[in-house]
Amino acid sequence: MFTTPFLDLPPLRAAQGTVRLPGSKSISNRVLLLAGLSEGTTVVHDLLDSDDTRVMLDALRALGCGVEARGADWHITGLAGQLPVKSANLFLGNAGTAMRPLTAALAVLAATQQGTFELKGIPRMHERPIGDLIDALRQLGCPIDYLGNDGYPPLRLNAGTGPLDTSAPIRVRGDVSSQFLTALLLGLPLVSAHGPVTIAVDGELTSKPYIEITLNLLARFGIAVQRDGWQQFTIPQGSRYRSPGSIHVEGDASSASYFVALGAIAAFDGRAIRIEGVGDDSIQGDIRFVDAARAMGAQVSSGPGWLEVRRGAWPLKAIDLDCNHIPDAAMTLAVMALFATGTTRLTNIASWRVKETDRIAAMAIELRKLGATVVEGPDFIEIAAPARWDRAAIHTYDDHRVAMCFSLATFNPLAHPAGEVPVRILDPRCVGKTFPDYFETLFTVVEARTTDVPVLAIDGPTASGKGTLASAVAIALGYHFLDSGALYRATALAAMAAGVADTDEAGLAAAAAGLKLKFSGQQIWLGDTEVSDDLRQEHVGAMASRVSVFPAVREALRALQLSHRRLPGLVADGRDMGTVIFPGADLKVFVTASAAVRAERRYKQLISKGIPANIDSLRADLEARDLRDQSRTVAPLKPAEDAKLFDNSELSVDQCVARVLEWWNARQAF
Ligand code: C5P
Repeated sequence: MFTTPFLDLPPLRAAQGTVRLPGSKSISNRVLLLAGLSEGTTVVHDLLDSDDTRVMLDALRALGCGVEARGADWHITGLAGQLPVKSANLFLGNAGTAMRPLTAALAVLAATQQGTFELKGIPRMHERPIGDLIDALRQLGCPIDYLGNDGYPPLRLNAGTGPLDTSAPIRVRGDVSSQFLTALLLGLPLVSAHGPVTIAVDGELTSKPYIEITLNLLARFGIAVQRDGWQQFTIPQGSRYRSPGSIHVEGDASSASYFVALGAIAAFDGRAIRIEGVGDDSIQGDIRFVDAARAMGAQVSSGPGWLEVRRGAWPLKAIDLDCNHIPDAAMTLAVMALFATGTTRLTNIASWRVKETDRIAAMAIELRKLGATVVEGPDFIEIAAPARWDRAAIHTYDDHRVAMCFSLATFNPLAHPAGEVPVRILDPRCVGKTFPDYFETLFTVVEARTTDVPVLAIDGPTASGKGTLASAVAIALGYHFLDSGALYRATALAAMAAGVADTDEAGLAAAAAGLKLKFSGQQIWLGDTEVSDDLRQEHVGAMASRVSVFPAVREALRALQLSHRRLPGLVADGRDMGTVIFPGADLKVFVTASAAVRAERRYKQLISKGIPANIDSLRADLEARDLRDQSRTVAPLKPAEDAKLFDNSELSVDQCVARVLEWWNARQAF
């Protein structure tokens, strides 16, 4: 997952390949709650691993449910209607799918079994309305206090003073969020022992497909709700949650929307995007996004558990669509509209205003940044494509869907080849709510022009701190990191192992060409051996310096270095990153420090690893190495003409990183 403050995406040009979707958020949290209320243990397969499911798992644990991860499965042992823990404070982040249903279930459990529970979340959660649900629960006789503003979390659910009254239908508003009705449907079987419980919906029920998911899953847990149209729902007397034993969570249909759109926009000339985990047998309403995407021009084929998408019409076609049935996935249509001729109008989306953020406002502001013409109303949005695309830093409002759908704007070269622009996604970690690896998954199926993939080249003499700096900059930007010195060191190590002399250019070049090098996190592997520490040895460094003077060796390592230029970008350090390997690098930095400071740094580095060292001989050695690196005929160590030079003798690592990021931001000009 990208946890950087921003993620810069270069223009992208095509897409193809297969993605596997994470589990559905809506299904995951409903299943967890139902399993938590059931008798017995439920094995949950393919549960979504995300912020919203984590808070639900934590809540179940705090309430005394058995919660155990076994491999990829979760084993949940439920309460069987009895509270083992009578009071708890639950933190539910920004997860509406945890806050609303837990409120309903715990309100009736607290009232009937003398419990007290406090439920709270992040500040945005405390701005998301819950009053209609609380009003419904108060009709039953549940004593509930607002701990902040009336109508909003945080809440305290209190012990009751008498039995709950289920004789009259419980009335709930259906036109703000379907989650209130879902919450009641999931929680009220707990009070059905003495008679049926009827829930009557006031107003037009919004987002009906989510209610279908709820009813479907209740049935899987033994509760057959009777439905009278969309106005009245009856939970039969004596309903009890029964674990189905095991249950599989299907892939998230809302998450599928980004890849369906990706196929519609960028899978052309024989390419296709295959999506696994959700298909035409899905119980999720957002699967109907597929129809909307087809209307805009996507070519979609499907089967059980899979979808396959290709570009059909191009440019895409604008649509005018009532999106009440696909509220979450419809945000993706708003971004597809950037690639369409005409004005796209999405209506009946008032629920967008009470989601993770006010999504109508958010989409309007961010789409306009890219150059689109946008009109917003209380419950609709209209989008016309930009005539000219602007570079934009997309604010994501801690809303995963804003981040994910705007990543598609990087395909702007397909709409406007003459004015292609990169896109910056601010706070990309917000995708963790439902799809922690969204960007990594996206990068496996998209195509960029190699020269568009950003490179920062950081060169400098030995022990100048360039490696530490480069790897810290890579972490700060979420980019890949190449320590090119490691390739020369690995060549030296491989040559030594094979008995190749340091004067045998052809033998050394063969060793370089045959390197079986693998980088994984902080580790470097040569074939099946981890060599991270061996590579740092002084005699290996010295041999690397002798090996690296040979043109044939440098040539043999060139392709390997170039192959590290992958999405979303690369920070490479070495001697000739900015001069020879990546002469077109977007930013070049040349760092140095006095010989005394560098000898001292190297000394500390070695001592800290328990390797004996002598500071005078280290200094003599690095001066000899500088001389050799500077005076060799090929790729001598020298700053690129357009490099930013700096002496970091007096600077801390953090100061150096801050300086490089400042240069980077100035260059990017978002
Ligand atoms: O940077 P490091 O000290 O790990 O590099 C080991 C040796 O590899 C250097 O002394 C230098 O001679 C050589 N090298 C190079 N070009 C690079 C990186 C390292 O010649 N891009």
